[in-house]
Amino acid sequence: MYNVAIIGAGPAGIFSALEIVKLKPDWKVVLIEKGDRIEDRKCLLREGYAKCPSCKKCGLLCGWGGAGAFSDGKLTLTPDVGGNLVDYMSRSDVEDLIDYSDKLYLKYGATDEVFGTDRKIFDELERQAALAELKLVHSPVRHLGTERSLDVLKNMQDYLMDKITILNNVTAKNLIVECEQVKGIVLDNGETIHSEYTIIAPGREGADWLTHEFAKNKIGMVNNAVDVGVRVELPAPVFEPITDKLYESKLVYHSPKFGDAVRTFCMNPNGEVVQENYNGIATVNGHSYANIKTKNTNFALLVSERFTEPFKEPIAYGQRIASLANMLGGGILVQRFGDLLDGRRSTPERLKSSIIEPTLKCATPGDLSLVLPYRQLTSIIEMLFALDKIAPGTASRYTLLYGIEVKFYSARVKLTDELETEGVKNLFTIGDGAGVTRGLIQASASGVHVARVICSR
Ligand SMILES: Cc1cc2nc3c(=O)[nH]c(=O)nc-3n(C[C@H](O)[C@H](O)[C@H](O)COP(=O)(O)OP(=O)(O)OC[C@H]3O[C@@H](n4cnc5c(N)ncnc54)[C@H](O)[C@@H]3O)c2cc1C
Repeated sequence: MYNVAIIGAGPAGIFSALEIVKLKPDWKVVLIEKGDRIEDRKCLLREGYAKCPSCKKCGLLCGWGGAGAFSDGKLTLTPDVGGNLVDYMSRSDVEDLIDYSDKLYLKYGATDEVFGTDRKIFDELERQAALAELKLVHSPVRHLGTERSLDVLKNMQDYLMDKITILNNVTAKNLIVECEQVKGIVLDNGETIHSEYTIIAPGREGADWLTHEFAKNKIGMVNNAVDVGVRVELPAPVFEPITDKLYESKLVYHSPKFGDAVRTFCMNPNGEVVQENYNGIATVNGHSYANIKTKNTNFALLVSERFTEPFKEPIAYGQRIASLANMLGGGILVQRFGDLLDGRRSTPERLKSSIIEPTLKCATPGDLSLVLPYRQLTSIIEMLFALDKIAPGTASRYTLLYGIEVKFYSARVKLTDELETEGVKNLFTIGDGAGVTRGLIQASASGVHVARVICSR
């Protein structure tokens, strides 16, 4: 019998383990992770495969460190982006949790440098953005870079190794709920884990599993907004006036045609575009290394759509759009912005006669207008023209658009302010998979929060 069982060794799960070990060193804790230990994690695409082999467990997303392991390691140090924790506690409590989690990253080896703290520089960029009808959100960023992220997470794994039980390559299959209280979990190897408290932190990769498991146990979910869009790649100098000063800029635009919010997300100066795989569906993302620089900068443009009754399947909606792109391109599609505007597909020849070399080599040149709904496509085009006003060259005909980028954190679990699942006692749900966070630092902070709640009971 364990005191606490944690599902998922992403930042949310790891930080809850770290805090429980600190507060209750004699408690028995088990952490269940469907992927490998950090040193054994492999993404074959990163290792030179021409095409993503669609591994059963995506090496980019699963294993110790979760999606954070090969991530860019940008810690966005504000409650305003990267999650909705402010919906569950006061803003100052979220700030304290973010500060505490940031210090833990530092303790395990993160870099000292934080971008975007100079208020004067921010104010000037904010002014320029306002002239283009864009809202610039203040968000200081600590940038670890992919290599250092791995080191930090490895240090955490080494620290926890002999303090808790870590089960790798086993998947949590079914929750055991009796009399409206969680009792444990059944694993895919047939083993049953009994625990007093259970923390579910399966990330976006496990959001689909979570939704089905919770529906089975009649645990309430509410629709979150669905974020669907593209990854933009352009020559790094185009965005340098912004990235040199802020590194990551969070810009929000309201599309004139539909009024939908379009935002920049996960900006990677001199980075590369990567493919991820959600249970067989290929989607796009991006990251950058601290020491290896490409000539390009990439970022996502995501359009938020909130559905009303009776629609209840935002994750399936995102999956269908991504699947359509996969069907046409055999994986990820890439199109030059000029070709999109001209109503024609991009071809290998057209890509060759460009000034930008795509960093995601396996993407198939194609036509995103056959994939993205008119509403999202129009909003993205409008946003690119708005961005062009503050970073001239953004709306160049050579700018590359990769599709589809979609965020599967679209169903939000009904939770109390303590992040305990409504209706099932002692069951806590945190991180991106619960729809409460959408970034490293808030996912980590949500882990610290539930650990404190559980330890105080
Ligand atoms: C390429 C890339 C770059 C990114 N860059 C940044 C960035 O720079 N800054 C930022 O803030 N965010 C970034 N992100 C997002 C960030 O990684 C996530 O927000 C964060 O990792 C979410 O943490 P989490 O613990 O909720 O989930 P995850 O990190 O997704 O971890 C969930 C874990 O649970 C495991 N799991 C799932 N289901 C089960 C199950 N049934 N049984 C057992 N284990 C299970 C998974 O294998 C996974 O390891 C990036 C993501 C990617 C993919």
